[in-house]
Amino acid sequence: MADVRAIAQLGAEVLRLQADKIKNVNSSETIKLIHALQDTLASTQGVGISAPQISVSKRIIIVASRPTVRYPQAPMMEPTVMINPKFNPLTEEIEKDWEGCLSIPGIRALVPRYTDIEITYTNIENKQVTQKLTGFVARIFQHEFDHLQGIVYLDRVEDNLEIFAESEYFKLINN
Ligand code: ZN
Repeated sequence: MADVRAIAQLGAEVLRLQADKIKNVNSSETIKLIHALQDTLASTQGVGISAPQISVSKRIIIVASRPTVRYPQAPMMEPTVMINPKFNPLTEEIEKDWEGCLSIPGIRALVPRYTDIEITYTNIENKQVTQKLTGFVARIFQHEFDHLQGIVYLDRVEDNLEIFAESEYFKLINN
């Protein structure tokens, strides 16, 4: 049975908390949480998810870039579970591009993010991984990482004129 959980919506306190570090990667609690995140993400058109979005204030994200109805231009990658993730920018270069969020339905906005980052995380086999990410995948990572800090992407929008209803966003990108 798929363990699909409800997505916490903007205004829920859990989205504003600093999430706790995972201490035991192999505990049944952690494994259960990872399965719930995988199943919940698979039930959506999203390209990433974080534990706080299923109301668990723990430091786990999944980055799963793939072309979907929500993100037709997204590159394809294996969904990657990242436990206790961290990152450093590899450049000062910042790019604005469109983001949306399962916790903020119906809205898109332009968000400034680093274009190139180096990330480290613990994977599901309890190994430390270091990786370089660029472009849209780096953007997804930074978006999901923010959720662990109690930040949502609207907090980073620089101009309210860059917030669109999703219907207007689709008109814009399909033109
Ligand atoms: Zn989000």
